Amino acid sequence: MIFWTHTFLMGCTDSPTQFQVIDIDSAVEDYAILEREIPSLSNPQRMEGTLGNLYVGGTIGIDLASSELSYQKGRALQVDFQTKNDTAYPLDRDGLIAFSYYAHLEDTVALLDTSEHNLDDILPMHSAVSPLIADLTLSFLPMENAAYVPTVHHFILLTDAIPKGVPLAANKGVVGHEFGHALFHYLTTGGTTTPRLLDVDAEGQDSVYSLDEGLADVLGYLVTNRPNFIADSLPEQDRALDSEHLASDVSPLPGDEMDEGLLSLYDPYPLGSVFAATVWEVDSQHDDRTRMLNWLLDTTKEFGRQISSGERPDSVDLGMQWLDIWVDGATESEKIWACQAIASRWDGVYEVASCTE
Ligand SMILES: [Zn+2]
Repeated sequence: MIFWTHTFLMGCTDSPTQFQVIDIDSAVEDYAILEREIPSLSNPQRMEGTLGNLYVGGTIGIDLASSELSYQKGRALQVDFQTKNDTAYPLDRDGLIAFSYYAHLEDTVALLDTSEHNLDDILPMHSAVSPLIADLTLSFLPMENAAYVPTVHHFILLTDAIPKGVPLAANKGVVGHEFGHALFHYLTTGGTTTPRLLDVDAEGQDSVYSLDEGLADVLGYLVTNRPNFIADSLPEQDRALDSEHLASDVSPLPGDEMDEGLLSLYDPYPLGSVFAATVWEVDSQHDDRTRMLNWLLDTTKEFGRQISSGERPDSVDLGMQWLDIWVDGATESEKIWACQAIASRWDGVYEVASCTE
C-alpha cells in the first residue's frame, strides 16, 4: 500500500528528468533507442514546452480569395508514459516519436544558438500532428509528410504512410530540415507570420523554392553530421549531400518550358540538392562550423533584404543569385572553395561573376 502511494505521488509530483527517445547514438553514429534529457519539454504529458506545443488534429485551411493559410488548433497531444528512475518511458510508438521529435527540435535550436543571430522570435514553434487538410489546401503545401507552413508558422506531422527505418518525425535531420524552412522564412522576411518572400507568380519562384529546400537539407546535415540523413527514413531518395549533384543534369530547370496547369509541376528537390551539395563541399573543407553557420545565415538574411527592398529584381535565376551573395560574404580561402564548388556543380547553368574576376 505504501509502495503504491509512493509510486503514485512520484508520478504526479516529480517530473522525469530523462526521456526515452529515438536519437543518434554518438558511440555508434547511428540511430538507437536511448535515454536523454529534454529540459525544454516542461510538460511531457501534454507535450508543451518553451520550444512549442504539439497539437493533435485541428484543421489547416485556406482562404481561396487571398490564398492565406490558417490553422484551427486541435487538442493537446496526450502522451502516456511510465516514470522509472526519473526516466519517462512512453507506452506507445506515438509517444516515443513525440519525445524524439522534441529532443531533435531542442538540438536544432541549440545548434542555431551557437550563431551570432538572435533567433528568439522563431520560438515558440508549435506543431500540428495529423491535422485535417483539404485537398486544395494540400496543393499549396510542400509534398512532405513533415512540413513547415509559412505564414501560419506551424509544423505539420503526418502519420507515415509506409513503415520507415526511422519515422520521419523521429529523424533528427528531417526535423532540422523542417526547421530550416522556418528559418528561411524568418531570415528572408523578418518575421514568422509575414507574407512569403515572393508572390506565387514571381519569375524566381521555382529557383527560390529549390534554394529553400537545399538550405533546409544543409541544416538537416549540420544538425546530424549525416550527409545522407534522409536515407535513415527514405532509402530511395537521391538527396545525399555528399553525392554527385550537377545543375546541368537537372531537368527541367527553372524557366524551362513546363506543361503547367493551375499548379506548378516544378520539382524543387533535384536543384535543391545541387545547392546543398555545393554548401556541403565547402563545409567539408572548412573546419569552423560556427563560422559556416553564420556565413549561411548572413547570406540568407542579406538575400531576403535585397529582394524585399527591390535592390535585386525578380528573375528566373533569383535563387541562384544567393550564390553571388554567399561568395560576397566569404573570406579569402572560403571564396576559393566556394568558387571551385560552384564552377564544378553549376557549370553550364549558372556563373557567379565575382568568381571569374
Ligand atoms: Zn522541405
